Amino acid sequence: MSAEKIKFLDLKEVTALHGPEIHEAVKRVVDSGWYLQGSEVERFEKDYAAYIGTRHAIGVANGLDALWLILRAMLETGRLQRGDEIIVPANTYIATILAITDNGLVPVLVEPDAMTMQLDGSRLEEHVTPRTRAVMLVHLYGHCAMTDQIAEFCIRHGFALLEDNAQAHGCRWQGRRTGSLGLAAGHSFYPGKNLGALGDGGAVTTDDDELAATIRALANYGSTRKYIFKYCGRNSRLDEIQAAVLQAKLPHLDADNEHRRRIADIYLTEINHPDVMLPDCGERDGNVWHIFPVRCDRRDALQEYLAANGVQTLIHYPVPPHRQECYSQWQGLELPVTERIHATELSLPISPAMTEADAHRVAALINAWAG
Ligand SMILES: *Cc1c(COP(=O)(O)O)cnc(C)c1O
Repeated sequence: MSAEKIKFLDLKEVTALHGPEIHEAVKRVVDSGWYLQGSEVERFEKDYAAYIGTRHAIGVANGLDALWLILRAMLETGRLQRGDEIIVPANTYIATILAITDNGLVPVLVEPDAMTMQLDGSRLEEHVTPRTRAVMLVHLYGHCAMTDQIAEFCIRHGFALLEDNAQAHGCRWQGRRTGSLGLAAGHSFYPGKNLGALGDGGAVTTDDDELAATIRALANYGSTRKYIFKYCGRNSRLDEIQAAVLQAKLPHLDADNEHRRRIADIYLTEINHPDVMLPDCGERDGNVWHIFPVRCDRRDALQEYLAANGVQTLIHYPVPPHRQECYSQWQGLELPVTERIHATELSLPISPAMTEADAHRVAALINAWAG
């Protein structure tokens, strides 16, 4: 085997894929003398809204803020009250939960489906209380979490459907993009995401005019007009430079995701090991493979073996939210499906810059593992 190392994600190579356009975009902004709240953000918001299929996209500072702003705007517009409950998958990244608790709302952690690792629609009913108001769906690993059962559940109860689309830019459900399926969605442009900036960035997408205007104000210190403050807001803006970079990358997103699908197809067809469980791939359009998560009872041994053979892997995530020190109130909570995923998940390298040859090599290495 070649000694060439395979990184989990080589951001230098990912940026180099669209290098000339990105350099041109950065130079354009640097030379313009205009760095915040200008035409670059305006143009990106318009194009990103059109891409996702919503009336509005609002550029914000990062993905956590996007989720936080949606919930705060729902509080400010009287659609939520403090203490209301939001149904959320228990196996999500901590940011989803932080956005809820930081607004004085209550996350109701629901176990995922053991196969898809996405929110289990058959477990929602048992968690409904008089305080339930919304479902925060997380398209984890780039896999669409939306189902007819979840859609029907929200409609029947009149619950708002919110989406954490941080890992699923470009993913589709029944012909529509995730991020357009509910009342509002939060997106992250963290560099490692499918559509990544060269630093922090995020967006909210929504069709709701009132919510969009409220989020815009909240993200600008709560200001509705210059020096007039309707809300106690915060400063959460997308920079002009990051917007220009995202604008340069957006036209390539579908092709970049298609490359991820080719890498995933290689893994799915070639990895064949009795101790390594492949992810449920779902419909082809319903997965943009932000992460390629395999599961293995001897996960740490597999990770060490791959590392010894030059392949870098990560774990998404080693500790679930309800076992984190910051949420000590949940220490007694038992969520066996979630805990099992966290104990066995291993993320294989995948990116638009990864070569198919490297994917073949990773698959062959796994098949040769003594287990
Ligand atoms: C990355 C991520 C976030 C947070 O985005 P940031 O831009 O890093 O703040 C939220 N939710 C999920 C599921 C994520 O993967």
